[in-house]
Amino acid sequence: MPQQVDQEPSGVTGDEVGATAVFASRDPRNAAVLAEYRVDGVAEVNRAVERARGAAQWWEGLGFDGRKRWLLSWKSAIAADAQSLAEVIAAETGKPAGDALLEVMLAVEHLDWAARNAGKVLGRRKVPSGLVSANQEATVRYQPLGVVGVIGPWNYPLYTPMGSISYALAAGNAVVFKPSELTPGVAVWIAEKWNSLVPNQPVLQVVTGFGDTGTALVRSGVDKIAFTGSTPTAKKVMATCAETLTPLVAECGGKDAMLVCADADLDQAADFAVFGAFGNAGQTCVGVERIYVADKVFDNFVQKVVAKTRRLRPGGGADASYGPMTMERQTEVVRGQIADALGHGATAALGGPDSIREPYIEPVVLTDVPEDSSATCEETFGPTVVINRMADLDDGVAKANAVGYGLGASIFTRDQRRALDAAERLRSGVVTVNSVLGFAAVPALPFGGVGESGFGRIHGADGLREFSRAKSVTRQKYRAPMNLLTMERKARDMKIAAWLLKTRHGRG
Ligand code: NDP
Repeated sequence: MPQQVDQEPSGVTGDEVGATAVFASRDPRNAAVLAEYRVDGVAEVNRAVERARGAAQWWEGLGFDGRKRWLLSWKSAIAADAQSLAEVIAAETGKPAGDALLEVMLAVEHLDWAARNAGKVLGRRKVPSGLVSANQEATVRYQPLGVVGVIGPWNYPLYTPMGSISYALAAGNAVVFKPSELTPGVAVWIAEKWNSLVPNQPVLQVVTGFGDTGTALVRSGVDKIAFTGSTPTAKKVMATCAETLTPLVAECGGKDAMLVCADADLDQAADFAVFGAFGNAGQTCVGVERIYVADKVFDNFVQKVVAKTRRLRPGGGADASYGPMTMERQTEVVRGQIADALGHGATAALGGPDSIREPYIEPVVLTDVPEDSSATCEETFGPTVVINRMADLDDGVAKANAVGYGLGASIFTRDQRRALDAAERLRSGVVTVNSVLGFAAVPALPFGGVGESGFGRIHGADGLREFSRAKSVTRQKYRAPMNLLTMERKARDMKIAAWLLKTRHGRG
């Protein structure tokens, strides 16, 4: 029997909840209904944001230390019950239990970092006041925005939105979270865990439903939207944000390239390639979708990747290499891209159109795919990978940079200097050298994309500042010997100012 989840945020009575419609979350492995959730409309979303306003005041008033204590308690509660959360993640996405648990681990690392570092990053600090303003004490601190609306995807239904939620909360904001319609249970689980600790302060609430619920959240008067999802949806969200000048951080799709140089450790590179391309059934925004390999080692590398990929077993069990396509309609995108690549002269080194056996897709390795094929330039979000040739690293960088997306990239070479030089030239928010996804568990590193992959940063100090506004204060310590901020400026002071200007800045 499907379970009707009681998802009322703390402090809300049943009477206040006016939603009539419900929707079901399903296990993508067998379509079984897991639970039902409300379709929250404009009124419910607005009420949640209103409640969040009150809670935000309490939360801000706690200061960094007070918030840190609550956030670390929440973290401990999540970690202590990680298995149960991982079960919800696995059921709603279909991913293997181990992958789900790893997701919890990563999310908890970020929450811990955000809680512990918010005070240091955002607290008031002195900045140099400069020679001309030596009589002023200059300080800056970062204040919370108020209420942040978080809109999340389904592929990493915990790790991804928590990259916004943890940092927004640590910065002193209340959060209203709209999860993907495919993974509402994960969102409700974390909100309930919060409510079990702080039942009277709805600092974190969840609203559920479809795209319209997301639109209602964008229009609700929140102080910022943190969106993670596809690029086309980000454009719609941005247009809605424009109606009210609501600021937006947009974490969107990717088409990440891996560059494999002739001097690379090919076994290691092949191992990472297979993990980056097929882990989570390729449904990873920073998954490896394109691989450019030096001509000289191309055949050898392809052989190694194919040999490792052959061993993968997609399925619904805990021991599966990866699970099903979580979102049914993404299968058609994968089918279309395979057909497009093969229709334009690509080779299927492993698998092909017959690899699609819904809800699973066996791994597909395509080689020598034309650079203008949809498989090479559009996000696939499925267990296929394109392996093409590069003349040298410069050629690889040029090919990697030739698409509109710019989220992540990786380079495999033994030459660290060349790798770091190429990393500078790659048009992406993050680069890993001799590994893939190496940044995901480094909370201090900001994460985000360029171009079609979005803008703004989550994680790290930049992620904390993304959910804050700078407040600058100058305090006059003593009267300036040369006072220019007066309507009765002295000729002598102006003479000194003119001399200073020329001496300090006018000498080539
Ligand atoms: P979608 O863009 O389909 O949806 C993202 C979220 O937006 C969902 O909660 C969705 O709700 C909601 N939404 C849909 N329409 C609107 C609207 N008009 N206004 C407001 N909200 C709306 O993405 P997916 O969930 O399919 O996620 C996959 C995508 O996410 C991929 O492109 C992937 O690359 C990207 N992604 C990016 C990451 C990053 O950090 N850069 C990380 C993870 C994923 P509903 O589901 O109910 O329709």
